[in-house]
Amino acid sequence: MTDSHIARKRFGQNFLSDPNIIRKIVDAIRPRPDDVMVEIGPGLGAMTDPLLAVLKHLHVVEIDRDLIARLHQNYPPERLTVHAGDALKFDFGSLGEKIRVVGNLPYNISTPILFHLAAFADQVEDMHFMLQKEVVERMVAQPSSSEYGRLSVMLQYRFAMAKLFIVPPGAFRPAPKVDSAIVRMAPYAELPHPAKDEALLGKIVTAAFGQRRKTLRNTLKDFVSAGDWEALGIDAGLRAEALGVREFVAIANRVAG
Ligand code: SAM
Repeated sequence: MTDSHIARKRFGQNFLSDPNIIRKIVDAIRPRPDDVMVEIGPGLGAMTDPLLAVLKHLHVVEIDRDLIARLHQNYPPERLTVHAGDALKFDFGSLGEKIRVVGNLPYNISTPILFHLAAFADQVEDMHFMLQKEVVERMVAQPSSSEYGRLSVMLQYRFAMAKLFIVPPGAFRPAPKVDSAIVRMAPYAELPHPAKDEALLGKIVTAAFGQRRKTLRNTLKDFVSAGDWEALGIDAGLRAEALGVREFVAIANRVAG
């Protein structure tokens, strides 16, 4: 591929250019020939090429029209299916029963895309993403740390997650200002702490972390009574960051009745 594409900031374009890092990421993904895999934001194909060296076929979702035209030019349709459009609106469930999702995600949409993908978790085998290092640290954070929050709880509810390695700015053209990291997410076959009403769990977690310096008694007063706190055996004087996924689910299930 030529280098003539001018990176568009509004699409979060930082293209991987370090062959050793690209190899390390593809090794971590461990593609198998028959995988049903989708790459979000293939860009100039830095990961697409080595993935297609193993896979028989790959789906990609790309928003940039110039890049879409290049992808059509560079790969035959029987190897690469190009879904032109916004990954935030893409129906990942349409691709199959056991899909693998990969991508060097545009940083400006990383959190919404993670929440969008969580809705398809039942059809996902695993996901590997490059994200801003700070976002990965928030995703895998444990209770009682400053990185721990809504993103940690809502993703850890559904996925086993691991931060794999850090990728420095020099691995990209143009170089971003911050470090990136690779994260692996695998949905639990059986949820460790199933919520009766997941939307309610989301509301409770959002309310609890909305004012993270305040006590649970205060932030969750619209949901949880003094009697509920006692029945749950949770100290209402604690703050959201003290609770794990299990406790948040216990609260949501108590409120759901
Ligand atoms: N995968 C390539 C690489 O590693 O060099 C490009 C990564 S670049 C950080 C992000 C890519 O996502 C770009 O190709 C960009 O055009 C695309 N993109 C940005 N927003 C998107 C969206 N909402 N839906 C689909 N693709 C998007």
